[in-house]
Amino acid sequence: MMLAEWRDQAACRGIPRWVFFPPTGGGPKNGRSGGPNTAYNEARAICSACPVQAPCLVSALAAERGYRGEKGRGMRGGLTPTERDRFTDLVGAR
Ligand code: SF4
Repeated sequence: MMLAEWRDQAACRGIPRWVFFPPTGGGPKNGRSGGPNTAYNEARAICSACPVQAPCLVSALAAERGYRGEKGRGMRGGLTPTERDRFTDLVGAR
């Protein structure tokens, strides 16, 4: 599947950007104290039904090499920035 093709099928097309980049995204009250990070709930639900979740995640991981943390990254490929950091740590991709 070509780059432009999978983006055309993205379930997030037309969804406001703030849903995937919530203002309270990775703040200290969202997930870091052991509780669930609820700021991404709506985005996570959209991603979970997205037909192009896999190419989206691969694209995000490739584009974010060297970047860590929540700031300015948002939900992509069904994973929050922190979850993508954990994933790349697990597979040793960075
Ligand atoms: S997986 Fe999520 S962020 Fe990626 S294209 Fe689909 S809806 Fe958008």
